[in-house]
Amino acid sequence: MLTTATAPHPVVIIGAGPVGLAAAAHLSERGLPFLVLEAGPTVAAAIADWGHTRLFSPWQYNVDAAAGRLLAACGWTAPDSDVLPTGQELREQYLEPLAELPELAGSIRCGVRVVAVSRDGLDKTRTAGREDVPFLVRLESGDGADEDAEDLLASAVIDASGTWSTPNPLGQAGLFAPGELDARDAGRITRSLPDVLGRDRGAFAGKRAMVVGAGHSAANTLLDLADLAEQESGTTITWAVRTADVSRVYGGGDQDELAARGALGTRLRGLVESGRIEVLTSFTITSFAQEEALVVHATTPQGGRAEQVDVLVPAAGFRPQLGMLSELRLSLDAAVEAPAQLGPLIDPEFHSCGSVEPHGERVLSHPEKNVYIVGMKSYGRAPTFLMATGYEQVRSIAAGLAGDREAADAVHLELPETGVCTTDLGGSCDAPAPSDDGCCAPAPAEDSCCAPAPAESACCSTPQPITLSVR
Ligand SMILES: Cc1cc2nc3c(=O)[nH]c(=O)nc-3n(C[C@H](O)[C@H](O)[C@H](O)COP(=O)(O)OP(=O)(O)OC[C@H]3O[C@@H](n4cnc5c(N)ncnc54)[C@H](O)[C@@H]3O)c2cc1C
Repeated sequence: MLTTATAPHPVVIIGAGPVGLAAAAHLSERGLPFLVLEAGPTVAAAIADWGHTRLFSPWQYNVDAAAGRLLAACGWTAPDSDVLPTGQELREQYLEPLAELPELAGSIRCGVRVVAVSRDGLDKTRTAGREDVPFLVRLESGDGADEDAEDLLASAVIDASGTWSTPNPLGQAGLFAPGELDARDAGRITRSLPDVLGRDRGAFAGKRAMVVGAGHSAANTLLDLADLAEQESGTTITWAVRTADVSRVYGGGDQDELAARGALGTRLRGLVESGRIEVLTSFTITSFAQEEALVVHATTPQGGRAEQVDVLVPAAGFRPQLGMLSELRLSLDAAVEAPAQLGPLIDPEFHSCGSVEPHGERVLSHPEKNVYIVGMKSYGRAPTFLMATGYEQVRSIAAGLAGDREAADAVHLELPETGVCTTDLGGSCDAPAPSDDGCCAPAPAEDSCCAPAPAESACCSTPQPITLSVR
């Protein structure tokens, strides 16, 4: 619950991805002031990077309940619950309209990156009166020069900044291999999930491509490369993994509760078995050298090996950027780097997506009162996060901040069960501005309701609850 001393300041939400925006929707419903700070030029900037990729969970799992209620009250029609959107469709049909709602629009700032969070006037070692002091949130905009820095005060901080900008190193032992960062700077190691068949096609057509990693991201890129190879002669595909076999990436096949994810694995298996994708297993990268080609040095059970490729796509998962929270008293799981009580619930060795226990404000709390890490980042290095999980996290946190303990503790979540998630959604560490069509614009004058009400619309009528994830 917010303390009286800090309550006049807004709750700062770091990141305008699906979970950050859902947090805003829940806080709005609770009548608590908030401010969403987004580093990218638009909301859902991370998803824009992988917008060409189709999600494996249908719309019914992708829309937060509070966001759905606010949107429905403004005449939004929910997409067909059984359809699988692409990342871009998720942005255009849900996240952008949500960010344009009058309840949210004025409280979102894009193009500002949070670089540090602390308590105003207190470093981490000072205890007396700590909980009554507001948080200090330091932002950078533009090129990060000192004159672009700005400090804000906050009553609570919800970090929903995801992990997209911090991919795992490709080298062994969780460290960058010698030459890796140079190869990345030279563009020979791309970002994860490049748009192989669209905007990034030129980097792959007729080239020798290697994909490193054994998860959903790797599978997506491999399938796109296989399509490209059929259209562009000379395109070759090598798939390198640290594990001894790749069969777990094929997933649940027709047993998978998320059918699209099962189908993806089945197709991948066919491409491997037909030899169109060469697989290198037990392949541990030791260094990179940039010659005419990118030379990937590795150890294998048969000895050292050097592979020459033109371009390498990393799909080895992500890790949380915790540096900006280093002045806060956090309690994190020593292995997974998730909030300490959550870590054991999501350890990928034991839990698939569906078997993660529902959890909320209590499990996500830290010794530092009113700081929460949510969404993709809350799973730390564990790769099994689903949006629906994040939506329940922020519903519970908003209730807790509003002092509604009963609602905060009544956590409920049902997700599709499958073993597939024990591998990875985002690529495992195995190798392991608003558009013009927004609803209810212009923003209301006096109240938070969509004035002027669109004729015949459901604006401000009885909210239509959206079934989130009940199955
Ligand atoms: C390819 C892919 C497919 C996926 N498919 C599914 C699926 O089908 N179903 C499912 O449930 N989940 C899926 N996921 C997993 C997960 O639900 C998504 O990654 C989702 O986008 C996570 O939401 P988020 O809000 O936690 O983080 P993000 O969407 O990553 O949003 C974080 C936001 O914070 C911003 N940001 C980062 N750092 C800062 C900072 N310092 N200051 C300010 N802003 C910052 C970023 O620019 C970004 O906009 C998928 C993930 C990937 C990568």
